[in-house]
Amino acid sequence: MKAHDGMYIEGGWRPASGPGTTDVVNPADEQVIGRVPAGTAEDVDIAVRAARRALPAWAATPPARRAEHLAALRDVLVARQEEFADTITAEQGSPPAYARTVQTGLPIAVAGSYAELAAAHAFEERIGNSTVHHEPVGVVGAITPWNYPLHQIVAKVAPALAAGCTVVLKPAEDTPLTARLFAEAVHEAGLPAGVFGLVTGLGPVAGHALVEHRGVDLVSFTGSTVVGRRIGAIAGAAVKKAALELGGKSANVILPSADLARAVNVGVANVMANSGQTCSAWTRMLVHRDQYEEAVGLAAAAADKYGDRIGPLVSAAQRDRVRGHVERGVAEGARLVAGGPDAPRERGYYVRPTVFAEVAPEMAIAQEEIFGPVLSILRYEDERDALRIANGTVYGLAGAVWAGDDAEAAAFARGLETGQVDINGGRFNPLAPFGGWKQSGVGRELGVHGLTEYLQTKSLQFREG
Ligand code: NAD
Repeated sequence: MKAHDGMYIEGGWRPASGPGTTDVVNPADEQVIGRVPAGTAEDVDIAVRAARRALPAWAATPPARRAEHLAALRDVLVARQEEFADTITAEQGSPPAYARTVQTGLPIAVAGSYAELAAAHAFEERIGNSTVHHEPVGVVGAITPWNYPLHQIVAKVAPALAAGCTVVLKPAEDTPLTARLFAEAVHEAGLPAGVFGLVTGLGPVAGHALVEHRGVDLVSFTGSTVVGRRIGAIAGAAVKKAALELGGKSANVILPSADLARAVNVGVANVMANSGQTCSAWTRMLVHRDQYEEAVGLAAAAADKYGDRIGPLVSAAQRDRVRGHVERGVAEGARLVAGGPDAPRERGYYVRPTVFAEVAPEMAIAQEEIFGPVLSILRYEDERDALRIANGTVYGLAGAVWAGDDAEAAAFARGLETGQVDINGGRFNPLAPFGGWKQSGVGRELGVHGLTEYLQTKSLQFREG
């Protein structure tokens, strides 16, 4: 593992201002595999000042040139994909196959999409006697979680740079090595000094300082709703923009005309992927009462098949949280049909793939985000009931609908209060806007909608005639 002692600021690694460090732990065997500096408000200040200095030149760089830089960054991500995948497996726990595909493949696709969008986007439009310029918002403070450590970084940094913004990143405490590798990639790709800075450290210290810094014009945060709410309040008081990608409790609605076995199997796989640490996971499966027992049997069998193929959770704290949720589900009277709260192995932060039946909509396991490999199966009476249950949480990030034909599923999906719905297993689209309704967040990531988050308009009015 490469050892840097400092922060990546203004195109180089500079020593951290304080002596504090945080350990990086491999969640599969609980061994310490690295140590990074715990940044302070001083480190954040130095990084933000550097980003401000770099802003005018980067904002004035023609979009086509910014696109070339992003293409170069994408190429480095491709060249070092295996190294990224190994690092993600080591610090986040993703099984190698998942790290080589989704964990690294998706951010490569996203970086490539912004290289294309930067070149193609109309940063200027004509409206009547006005020319409207779409200009970068300024310096972006990006705060990311650990569940998809590279994707979460690229989904913020790539559109921000495409827009002409400069960025300071504060990555999650549990996955700083991926962020350091990303900083190396930025360097190798030859991006101008200062357009990207990295400060590792604790959320309430370095993260908080970044949100509060007067030199930050926009905060882009992905993480828990609790922290997001606090960040939104601070940004609101300072009248700075905040984009918040928060939690979810997405519904997988299986209508009676659907291919039940397929819908259940894909639904279980969706929840178990990344050990359930996916904000958009379909953690509530809604099944018609006539098919309920059959669906429960299929889901339990599918979950049992996971066995050893599931990776650990990211940390002891997450494992304990998730096991606490499972214990609460049992205490609330839900029926455990697969998995359970017991530790499946002696070492590592593993949780067994778990399925609950007889889950009532008001139970905590049907309302709260668990962020682990835990599926709740709920029974509905008719379509109105299904819609009421599906919309009956504070969240609205994603979802799925299965029916005999796409039109029927799509008609139902139109009633869902959520940012995305996959119809009959429609695949993830990295160009479609991703983001939440209700308490799942504000703002959108990915594609052109993700780009416009980082732009603000300036209208010039000309005399007519
Ligand atoms: P978290 O909110 O505690 O941490 C996320 C990031 O915020 C980390 O970088 C952390 O250091 C930082 N942070 C923590 N406290 C802060 C503060 N006071 N000020 C500034 N920054 C602070 O989240 P977590 O518990 O580590 O991650 C799991 C949660 O993230 C889940 O609830 C999940 O739903 C959510 N999540 C959402 C998405 C999404 O796209 N909507 C994606 C991944 C994770």
